[in-house]
Amino acid sequence: MTRLEVAADSLFGPANLPYGVYSVGGSLPRVGTRLGDHVVDLGLLLGDPVFEEPCLNPFMARGHSAWAETRSAISEAVAGDVPDRAVHPVEEVTLHLPFEVADYVDFYASEHHASNLGRLFRPDSPDPLMPNWKHLPVGYHGRSASVVVSGTDVVRPCGQRKGPADPEPVFGPSVRLDIEAEVGFVVGTGNDLGHPIPAEDAERHIFGVVLFNDWSARDIQAWEYVPLGPNLGKSFASTVSAWVVPLAALDSARIRLPEQDPGPLPYLRMDEPWGLDLALEVEWNGEVVSRPPYAAMYWSPAQMLAHLTVNGARTRTGDLFASGTVSGPTPAEWGSFIELTRGGSAPIRVAGEARTFLEDGDEVVLRATAAGAAGARIGFGEARGRITPSRFGSRTADC
Ligand code: MN
Repeated sequence: MTRLEVAADSLFGPANLPYGVYSVGGSLPRVGTRLGDHVVDLGLLLGDPVFEEPCLNPFMARGHSAWAETRSAISEAVAGDVPDRAVHPVEEVTLHLPFEVADYVDFYASEHHASNLGRLFRPDSPDPLMPNWKHLPVGYHGRSASVVVSGTDVVRPCGQRKGPADPEPVFGPSVRLDIEAEVGFVVGTGNDLGHPIPAEDAERHIFGVVLFNDWSARDIQAWEYVPLGPNLGKSFASTVSAWVVPLAALDSARIRLPEQDPGPLPYLRMDEPWGLDLALEVEWNGEVVSRPPYAAMYWSPAQMLAHLTVNGARTRTGDLFASGTVSGPTPAEWGSFIELTRGGSAPIRVAGEARTFLEDGDEVVLRATAAGAAGARIGFGEARGRITPSRFGSRTADC
């Protein structure tokens, strides 16, 4: 047996206790938590076979009360003597996609981001926001099968594009490959068809929170998106962090949602609308280029889930909905490169080089921290991805 020591300033102290799926030395993937610099096997710690599964879905399906009981049991167990064979140094394990992604929807919940993009795409429009934007959380349905875990390489996508000067569309590797620094919410238990989730109940359905990079090929997106929205410009890869931070670990990070004006329709109203104060960080080739504040988001996670189901649509265990790019009011807080470089017209210095969009070999890492219980700071790990060349040819060649 062993007693786990955790540094007081660890982002993975007892206030966090995230869930992940790991393997070690070629073993089958199993569910673990992270404490300090160790991964602790939850199957061995708690003696529950649900944690011998290769994903979190069977555990998440047990529901909100079971999540709370389990979190208490883990807290108690890791404070005592832990079986030696349940403990692995974090650098010795392989982390896997922590849950099987059911449906995936991406929202657009930052007013700063939506306004920045509106000004770039519709410079002549008096209002950078579309008329619907303050009445509903705008979103689109994405590709769950392309959600990958942190550390997975991202192959530069090929597709159709047509720049303003091109007489005809061309096919080739994207030349405007971008990121979107986002936060993802994992649905633990869904709803029956025809039975919407009220905003007040959303927190009983949301199991946890992940970092999310919605890689975006702006040239493919710009040509394809009219009139049905993003498709292949987004669906080639989306990166999630390996650890799912339970919503219960974020009680101390809750804030009152910033004022919404005009007030939303009744199904989007709450007595005490809550947001989350998460401090994000975007690292590009080893240099932090932005610190997006999640606290500045306009639409809340509860409103997004209420809206997602208000027509009776069904959600399931493992559904993922993401916030949309997190951008704050100042350039140092913008969560995409299309914003940071003013649509690619104003390169920024990144690790000594001028950059607009992503080059082959570039690596982007998202990180975040938040307030945890008893003055602790908790971390989300990272969402890391490196761009590898298009399988069809070089960055500039047509395919
Ligand atoms: Mn997005």
